[in-house]
Amino acid sequence: MTYVITEPCIGVKDKACVDVCPVDCIYEGEDQLFIHPDECIDCGACEPECPVTAIFPEDDVPPTMEAFTEKNREIFNSETPPGRPKR
Ligand code: SF4
Repeated sequence: MTYVITEPCIGVKDKACVDVCPVDCIYEGEDQLFIHPDECIDCGACEPECPVTAIFPEDDVPPTMEAFTEKNREIFNSETPPGRPKR
């Protein structure tokens, strides 16, 4: 299991989640933040921190945002994977 960052993050990238993630598995992409699905330990700490409610457990991603589960995984296999969040 993993947590997934969905559409409300686009253009926001608040990064409150980054500060609480114990394993530093939240990365910054061009448009939004992403959780590395193989690094996430499923602790749930990031979910309540998000001011725009963009983070969901994989099994609870709203149907309208299902594509983000795949996006969070595939982005790490792309030619321009997300990097360490910039401040
Ligand atoms: Fe990090 Fe925990 Fe959120 Fe996974 S669930 S991204 S480990 S804070």
